[in-house]
Amino acid sequence: MAKILIVEDERSLLKGLRFNLEREGYKVATATDGQAGLEAFGREKPDLVILDVMLPKVDGYGVCRAIRQKSQTPILMLTARGEEIDRVLGLELGADDYVTKPFSLRELLARVKAILKRVGPAARPAALRAGPLELDLERYEAKCSGRAVHLSSKEFDLLRCFMEADGKALTREQILERVWGYDKGLELDTRTVDQHVLRLRERLGPEAPRLVTVKNVGYRLKAD
Ligand code: CA
Repeated sequence: MAKILIVEDERSLLKGLRFNLEREGYKVATATDGQAGLEAFGREKPDLVILDVMLPKVDGYGVCRAIRQKSQTPILMLTARGEEIDRVLGLELGADDYVTKPFSLRELLARVKAILKRVGPAARPAALRAGPLELDLERYEAKCSGRAVHLSSKEFDLLRCFMEADGKALTREQILERVWGYDKGLELDTRTVDQHVLRLRERLGPEAPRLVTVKNVGYRLKAD
């Protein structure tokens, strides 16, 4: 399912959007200022960004411009009522669409669906590979040298997270955040990561040594 990044500093609105998008089945990542939004964009690789214009640190235009320098990921801007200039500027900077606050959730959901339909599934890689390991992201299947490897959904997400890191080491905290959507309200600790890595290694059998422990850091998956 598509992943949506919401960048919005109004917490009650953010919470409401998140709740409703998740209920529609989307994966949701959030940020409450422009700088955090850009960081989250790099980390989460969303399929769509919902971007407020008035944001602390870097405003929505700055975020939009920075994203467009490196990516064609669709951007839906949230603009204030009556601020014609907002949407004109947003569209000039490369935003795909906008909705004017206050908006109905139904309207927003309709726009989100329309944009995602337009960009289509081709916007996302259908599979990831690292050596003999292959993840089919649409069928949620893992293979090793062409043979099926049975993974739980968390193990699958964990392997995916390593493959997306493309050989780079990840800290346990980064892994928690990416796979479990770690936030401070969640009572998870880094041992959860260790336990899942252990199990994932068992599943990978002869390819287990690819999943390397990096001392004092975390883990990485050897890509070649
Ligand atoms: Ca705002």
